[in-house]
Amino acid sequence: MSLALGNHILVEFMNCDPNIMNDVAQIEKDMVEAAQRADATVINSTFHHFSPWGVSGVVVIQESHLAIHTWPEYGYAAVDLFTCGDMNAWISFDFLKEAFKSQSYSAIEMKRGSVNLLERNDFDITTMRQKASEWRNPEFFTRNVWFTDKDEDQALSLRFTGEVFFDVQSPFQRVRIIESYKYGKMLALDDMVMTTIEDEFHYHEMISHPAMFTHGNAKNVLVIGGGDGGTVRELLKHDGVEKVTMVEIDGEVIKACKEHLPQIAAAFDHPKLDLKVDDGIAFLKQAQAESYDIIIVDGSDPVGPAEGLFSVEFYTNCYNALKKDGILVAQGESPKFNQKAFAELNHTLQSIFGTDNAPVSLFFVPTYPTGMWSFQYGIKGDKHPKRLEAAGIDAFVEAKGLRYYNEEVHRGSFATPNFVKTLLKK
Ligand code: SAM
Repeated sequence: MSLALGNHILVEFMNCDPNIMNDVAQIEKDMVEAAQRADATVINSTFHHFSPWGVSGVVVIQESHLAIHTWPEYGYAAVDLFTCGDMNAWISFDFLKEAFKSQSYSAIEMKRGSVNLLERNDFDITTMRQKASEWRNPEFFTRNVWFTDKDEDQALSLRFTGEVFFDVQSPFQRVRIIESYKYGKMLALDDMVMTTIEDEFHYHEMISHPAMFTHGNAKNVLVIGGGDGGTVRELLKHDGVEKVTMVEIDGEVIKACKEHLPQIAAAFDHPKLDLKVDDGIAFLKQAQAESYDIIIVDGSDPVGPAEGLFSVEFYTNCYNALKKDGILVAQGESPKFNQKAFAELNHTLQSIFGTDNAPVSLFFVPTYPTGMWSFQYGIKGDKHPKRLEAAGIDAFVEAKGLRYYNEEVHRGSFATPNFVKTLLKK
């Protein structure tokens, strides 16, 4: 009989594949399989992905636990294989070494809880033994794989099934489709939540309909970005539109959403849509002057390919490409998350369109950090969303089955809290 209660193997896996070290779903799958290969009974797995990188997690087994923390930037994983009973955790070690493509490693094995050093309390163990309430199928265990979108000080975490439906590193970003328990399937770009099945309508109705009703007669609309397709889907609900041009830089985003988010990417084959895979910044540079009624910038956060979508030059080109009474709408970040980008974008729009012609619409998206998000406007003529005169909004809302936008929400979204007014003061 072992004279120790547990056996602990502390492992340093080095020179591992950094991409695997940053892949929460893959690591969760490998750690669970490592336990099962050693005939352990898995009770629960809880794994967190930290953006920008790193994974932490534990697989609780009847025989104790397997734990891991990774540093992808070093290709390093610290792994604890703690077992009791006669489970051979070296089988798990061998499996993980292969799975992580570890080129070098060190491992220390130590006995934990030497019974010689411990004194057994003589209490009635039956009082402590919790009767297993019902038979539990060892095949099923709760998986808590968490996807976390965060900046230095705040985060939004979504529990997802661990299932990865699409995972491609494109020339611009990592494109993934995963499934969250609460918000269904979702698109993540470089570990940032872009859109989810359960709350996408908040964003896509509010980026499109306020401008369409403010303009009242938009025929030619340009969308920059919007690779998930939700924005063009909403725009094409307006029968008066003659042409929508969409310029998305990353064909992998379109492909992923067509395949796995068809209800969002529903209008990609619409006859009025001219879908281009191109850089929106370059497209605007050569766009014909005064050619669009509305320009919508449905871009991601100001990093990577979307950084230039927050520049003075880009918005000056947008201004020039708009017709005299044109309207610009831009994904505006949040006054509570990326505050600096939020304020700087508005100052840029004020400097190009005029102080009173850069209104901000605030709305809620539960799966964006803080849930409070914005669209920022540039009004070239006098069609101002705060002076909405459109008729027939409620009939349109009814007919098209809109779930977020209506006339009240339109007007309310341009009501600006005082702290935001202060932020926007130039
Ligand atoms: N709702 C999201 C948000 O608030 O962050 C945006 C969704 S949409 C998926 C963002 C799209 O902008 C992505 O598909 C990305 O590839 C695209 N994009 C980023 N930079 C771009 C650029 N320079 N030109 C065209 N599309 C761009």
